[in-house]
Amino acid sequence: MISLCLCALFSASAQSDRWQQRVKYTMDVRMDVNTNRFTGIQKLEYTNNSPDTLKKVFYHLYWNAFQPNSMMDMRSRRQGTIAIRKDARGNDVVDWDARVRDRIANLKPEEIGYQRVKSIKMNGRSQTMKEHETILEVVLDKPILPKSKATFDMEFEAQVPLQIRRSGRDNAEGIRYSMSQWYPKMVEYDYEGWHPTPYVGREFYGVWGDYDVKLTIDKTYMVCGTGYLQNADKIGFGYETPGVKVPAPTGSTLTWQFIAPNVHDFMWAADPEYKHASKKVRNDLTLHAFYKISVPALTKQFEALPASTKSRYTGGVNDFISQYEAGWKKVVDEAARALPFIETHFGAYPYKQYSFVHGGDGGMEYPMATLLKGPGIGTVIHEWMHSWYQMMMGTNESLYSWMDEGFTSFAEAETMAFLEGSKAWPHGSDYAGYYALVKSGREEPMTTHADHYNTNFAYSVAAYSKGAVFLEQLGYIVGKPVRDKILLEYYKQWRFKHPNVNDFIRVAEKVSDIQLDWYREYWVNTTKTIDYGIDSLWEENGISKVRIKMVGDIPMPIDLQLTFKDGSKEMHYVPAYLMFGAKKAEDASITFKTYPAWKWTHPTYVIESSRKLTDFKAVEIDPSLRMADVDRKNNKMDITW
Ligand SMILES: [Zn+2]
Repeated sequence: MISLCLCALFSASAQSDRWQQRVKYTMDVRMDVNTNRFTGIQKLEYTNNSPDTLKKVFYHLYWNAFQPNSMMDMRSRRQGTIAIRKDARGNDVVDWDARVRDRIANLKPEEIGYQRVKSIKMNGRSQTMKEHETILEVVLDKPILPKSKATFDMEFEAQVPLQIRRSGRDNAEGIRYSMSQWYPKMVEYDYEGWHPTPYVGREFYGVWGDYDVKLTIDKTYMVCGTGYLQNADKIGFGYETPGVKVPAPTGSTLTWQFIAPNVHDFMWAADPEYKHASKKVRNDLTLHAFYKISVPALTKQFEALPASTKSRYTGGVNDFISQYEAGWKKVVDEAARALPFIETHFGAYPYKQYSFVHGGDGGMEYPMATLLKGPGIGTVIHEWMHSWYQMMMGTNESLYSWMDEGFTSFAEAETMAFLEGSKAWPHGSDYAGYYALVKSGREEPMTTHADHYNTNFAYSVAAYSKGAVFLEQLGYIVGKPVRDKILLEYYKQWRFKHPNVNDFIRVAEKVSDIQLDWYREYWVNTTKTIDYGIDSLWEENGISKVRIKMVGDIPMPIDLQLTFKDGSKEMHYVPAYLMFGAKKAEDASITFKTYPAWKWTHPTYVIESSRKLTDFKAVEIDPSLRMADVDRKNNKMDITW
């Protein structure tokens, strides 16, 4: 009875009481595959769950970024003037995104992208609009009151840009349409207010809700992406119920209808030559891969390979193409093989389908689907993991890009190690990336808005590597099993919501019973670094003593491992004072001794062992390498008497 009570209390306190807005989109879109333009009608039921009265609303018009002289164009060309490093030949490598460069500046009128809202009504009344390039501001004639609903009816038209970044048409892989960021999308309003982030480079944030999308397109095109196809038996293309005879389309087009419940975006892609592989992994989940074998595109890719790589394909380009196709066919199998591991460690996948879609760019994540340049399994798993970090834990990527890219990179590394059956530590490259950033002198705090980092370099390493290190290093602080429990509890409490860094830290504190506010402040808000070293060791009255010193600015708990000549080991563990707690032994095979906490105001700390100094073989701070110590040279002392 008592334990039942505790359970009830715990689950009650586990519910976040933060309000969030809600959307319900109904869209009807007609694509002209000759002009690459489409028209759309959008009905949006908007629920204002906030305590605020809204006098205006904002929409994203992302594709207006793909026009010469746009903010995205200017920003990219400016990054092209910043030299980040030298390449092997001694030439400058500049900071712009190699996919964007100055390509926007050179787009012709029929190649640019645009989204134009022709009319907008709220509750049947026309509203005033102001277009600010990629953001549309709608000044409302009557405010939306707290806890009330409004219905917006919009007519819009758009031209699909030649693929530059993420979305677009006719990319290097030969795919006709990668349709992401394609519709006027309501900007999120949350406890921090509106987020009308112009489309300069990255990142995304959306309102949770439901989508019902009808896409009318030339009947030869196969369509895929977010959501569940509603009229599969009329569409065919392998979507139909086995055995059902699909009627021939009467006109020149087909209308595909998809619904997507409880997501914060909707992406689709279309091509007449998509091939479709799928795997039903359980009754309520099917994984799909949609890919294109474009011989001209693949021949070009093959020709661009270095001679040494090319020679590996003994049958030349035909070999390359058949291995490429085999790679795509393997995607759903590998994703299915990874799923039990992923769900055990990061939480259940709740939707009925997921689609790996051949599209533009390296890889970009969306709800229930991703756009991938190719079938490389590392990227496949990375994008698949975004279904957890961002698609379910819907962090504001502009403000907490590291909570989506970093957490995803962490989960990708763990999952890849599982798939490869590797016992090696999978996070070394993220630590190496972080150390290189520190050394470069270009590091900026992870609190920097994703678009406002001075360099793409500092953004990428902070978001992907330092964000991944955040989680692995948390394992060092609270212990690996506790860190794993934190990730599952975070999923339980924050999926389908908008968690921020504090929400994550609070979950971590509750699960670990360790204070972690200091970790958030130092690691996220500053560019201060960690450096501990071994100062000296000596013997006093038969007791061996080791003095360790804090050289860097971030206080951390210390694992000090003593290795003796007979091969035995002792772990001496000093919690950091600000933790007001301690982790448990992580390796039961080694003696583990916990010391009183180290006050960060004190520069040194002395640990003791009853073993004779002459028995010592080595002394090492953090042999697990999980503490991101920027100078490891002073971490280890090998003793030779
Ligand atoms: Zn990513």
